[in-house]
Amino acid sequence: MILVIDGHPFHYEMENLCRVFFPYQKIKVMSVLSQNGEDDQLIYTGLEPLPDGLKISVRVEIGTYRNEKSKTLGLTGCTDEKEQERHMAILLFELLTQYCGFTPKWGILTGVRPVKLLRRLIAEKGEREGLDYFRNRLLVSGQKTDLSLLTMRNEGKILEQSRPESFSLYVSIPFCPTRCSYCSFVSSSVEKTAKLIPQYLSLLCEEIRHTAKVAADLKLRLESVYIGGGTPTTLSAEQMNVLLTVIYDSFDMASCREFTVEAGRPDTITGDKLDTMATHGVTRISINPQTLNDEVLKAIGRRHTTAQTLSAFAMAREHGFGNINMDLIAGLPQDSVESFILTLDEVLRLAPESITVHTLALKRSARIFQEESEPFVSGAQAAEMLDYADAQLLKYGYLPYYLYRQSRMVGNLENTGWAKPGFESPYNVFIMDESQTILACGAGAASKIKDPYSDGLTRIFNFKYPYEYISRFEEMIIRKDQVKTVYDQFCGVSE
Ligand code: SF4
Repeated sequence: MILVIDGHPFHYEMENLCRVFFPYQKIKVMSVLSQNGEDDQLIYTGLEPLPDGLKISVRVEIGTYRNEKSKTLGLTGCTDEKEQERHMAILLFELLTQYCGFTPKWGILTGVRPVKLLRRLIAEKGEREGLDYFRNRLLVSGQKTDLSLLTMRNEGKILEQSRPESFSLYVSIPFCPTRCSYCSFVSSSVEKTAKLIPQYLSLLCEEIRHTAKVAADLKLRLESVYIGGGTPTTLSAEQMNVLLTVIYDSFDMASCREFTVEAGRPDTITGDKLDTMATHGVTRISINPQTLNDEVLKAIGRRHTTAQTLSAFAMAREHGFGNINMDLIAGLPQDSVESFILTLDEVLRLAPESITVHTLALKRSARIFQEESEPFVSGAQAAEMLDYADAQLLKYGYLPYYLYRQSRMVGNLENTGWAKPGFESPYNVFIMDESQTILACGAGAASKIKDPYSDGLTRIFNFKYPYEYISRFEEMIIRKDQVKTVYDQFCGVSE
């Protein structure tokens, strides 16, 4: 498919909007000059200056389908580039909706953080006008507007507890027992990289100790700790003990409200690991079935069964874990609406304190993307799954408290974290809202340094892969020292 960009700078937004409708297609973006017209799927977007304003035109030519729309903006309405972009997006949205016979529920929004956008609109325009803009100018469905508003209210309660000196610690364990077919993370399967774990862990502990010194020098206050990955429970109980001990010994944990370990794959959870986590005061664990359909689990390359999920959950309860999250994914290959409903109902029966409902995102780097024979769930089916989940979760007393979107999600839907009141993960809110500093350690991790006095955010990236992290570890320490420099700049020390 060719997307022609003629006389405007909105190529990024137009391409993203095309992806909403054609998530699996290659889209070639061209300027009008280089367009050769040989593709039978062509989308034209153009902006033309007129003596008394601007003309926006959009044309869709796909197979035998031909349609176009245009809009003229008068002098008063044409100076704001954001408005020009919005008008163009609406024309494109209308044509593609007509061609595809499908109305994306998030309207022309393609960004990751719709709730943050809604909060900004409400802050600028007031609640009534902000909601009206979200709904009628950005074409977000009533259902998703309601979900965003509810999420905004719940996350607001968490955000308001954060102080300028607050920060969270993220620790990355980028190893998994096997690689899921939909995975686009940097995680490596243990079969290939197990031998790296001891050295990785020892350097990770060094980075954690160094990070704690940086945080103490800056007088930062630790709010939450999140050990993610990958699958942190690929570590043995002894290795987990080493890691948790280093965190407790290095940081002042008095202000820490959450300590999450993403246990992830049920087949990596054992009694002695749960003991270790319980002894070290881990407050929340995540056990992620993704689905309770064994056929689907096989299809996505997860080497565990539903029975293992159920027994890991029961074992975690026996070890006293009173705050358990479970992750599910809507839109997995070979899943169906009926099977998703059975999964959700069974998970509700277990009554974990929080349930995160993801929608499958088909990233190019994922194996599933290359295996074109996989039967994918349609966008409409994925939407049906989420509709059921949202209604049931509300009915069972869960409330949405963070929400984000990714590109190439089936049906252009969303991921939502639901929790029973009081069991939300502050870390999930802070990382998605980008409103608190996250100091991140380990391969693939990225620290986000938040300016305490403005919306400014500076990212410092660690090396992506464990072998790079190990071989160039000295550079990791130097990068951590940059955190101080960034804070000094935010606070005007260097001026
Ligand atoms: S458990 Fe997560 S990080 Fe590991 S392979 Fe699967 S999707 Fe990737």
